[in-house]
Amino acid sequence: MQNTTLDTLTLVVRGGTVVSGQDVIRADIGVAGGRIVALADGLPPAPEEIDATGQIVMPGGVDVHAHIEQVSATGLMTADDWESATSAAALGGTTTVLAFAAQHRGMKLSKVVEDYARRAAAGAVIDYGFHLMIGNPDAPTLDIELPALIEAGHRSVKVFMTYDRLSVSDEHILDILEIARRHGALVCVHAENHGMIAWMSRKLLAAGKTAPKYHAHAHPRLSEVEAVRRVIDLARLAEAAVSIFHVSTREGVAAIRAALGDGAEVHAETCPQYLFLGPEDLDKPGLEGAKWMCSPPPRGPRDRDALWKGLERGDLQILSSDHAPYAHDETGKLKHGPESSFKQIANGVPGIGARLVLAFDALAHDGARGLVQFARITAANPARIYGMAPAKGVITIGADADLVLWDPERRRTLRDADVADRTGYTPYAGRTVRGWPHTVLRRGAVIVRDGALCAAAGSGRMVARSL
Ligand SMILES: [Zn+2]
Repeated sequence: MQNTTLDTLTLVVRGGTVVSGQDVIRADIGVAGGRIVALADGLPPAPEEIDATGQIVMPGGVDVHAHIEQVSATGLMTADDWESATSAAALGGTTTVLAFAAQHRGMKLSKVVEDYARRAAAGAVIDYGFHLMIGNPDAPTLDIELPALIEAGHRSVKVFMTYDRLSVSDEHILDILEIARRHGALVCVHAENHGMIAWMSRKLLAAGKTAPKYHAHAHPRLSEVEAVRRVIDLARLAEAAVSIFHVSTREGVAAIRAALGDGAEVHAETCPQYLFLGPEDLDKPGLEGAKWMCSPPPRGPRDRDALWKGLERGDLQILSSDHAPYAHDETGKLKHGPESSFKQIANGVPGIGARLVLAFDALAHDGARGLVQFARITAANPARIYGMAPAKGVITIGADADLVLWDPERRRTLRDADVADRTGYTPYAGRTVRGWPHTVLRRGAVIVRDGALCAAAGSGRMVARSL
């Protein structure tokens, strides 16, 4: 059996330092039929060979939070389409993404999913799936469409606790949690208290405080903490698991840690903008600070420390991008013109390409522990929690050959001019990172070679998921 397998290898990634689950090993990786079929030193030659000497071989990144070719509730289209967003993802070492099929008021969910799936199939260069975003929780959506779509393999649902045109009541969240539990899906939540944000925004605007930096004041830390605690309790009542998106505060981490200690089934993520940015980034002349506006906003140094610690202890299991791409011009952030208040500026920062290089720089130069932690929070955990394991997220026999070769010593300074997404900027411009992904394989096919994309639009596939 073993020899038969070795005879049929189509590709060997040779001589790299492989981060496989809990281990960091020197091994060759043998690939056949797009899957990893052998993991050992000294594999026989194959028709295609990739030399990984001196390189770190990581599992392809799994980004479970990105807004791609998505129309907002106010009708604003993201700067990226499927091809541009997933190209930027691939160049940054990500080979699987979960994005949104966004239902707004009055829309039929199954039609929404059909439209988004068609666009993804035409454009994606990496593998993908969808969170079903529920903005219209009427009876047909909840009773008929949502259960059918979950059963069809869309194993996650997104709800908002804030935003005028998107938020869902606690009662509807309970309904959705119960449906998800029954049919096998995970509910993901944007947890911020709507009333607190509306009240703070009204007071700030009335006082003439309209600049982007006031966006951070309008989203008080208490608004996150209250909503995190509330949705955990809603999930407990519905006896369902819940996943909390983009945790930004130390009190949010503490609330999740306490719930986990009580045995609650809570998953949580944070994002690069909460680990590497601060409220001071929004404080720039004119509307420049709009580039750093996202919800929740970046917090302070003590929060960043707590988020890193939360990731290390497993209170937070996932590092996602929450890539929400809007250009800093009239097509995006500045749609309402040069006099826009923070309330009129689209929320969101790009990061689908920067997520992994920032995390690699921060984690991967600290020995085996850091390498394993990087692979865990950027690939293995998100794949497992969202029902994509064992095909995605780990370098192991039987998994898809989604592999990234990192040059651990390559230094590069992030610049607006180099971004591959269509926002035209990076919130991390000027930062120098150490470590860069130069070769990326998706199901055994090279999609990035020496830092250049070589994948066709539409070559990504929808990932089969089960929970
Ligand atoms: Zn988001």
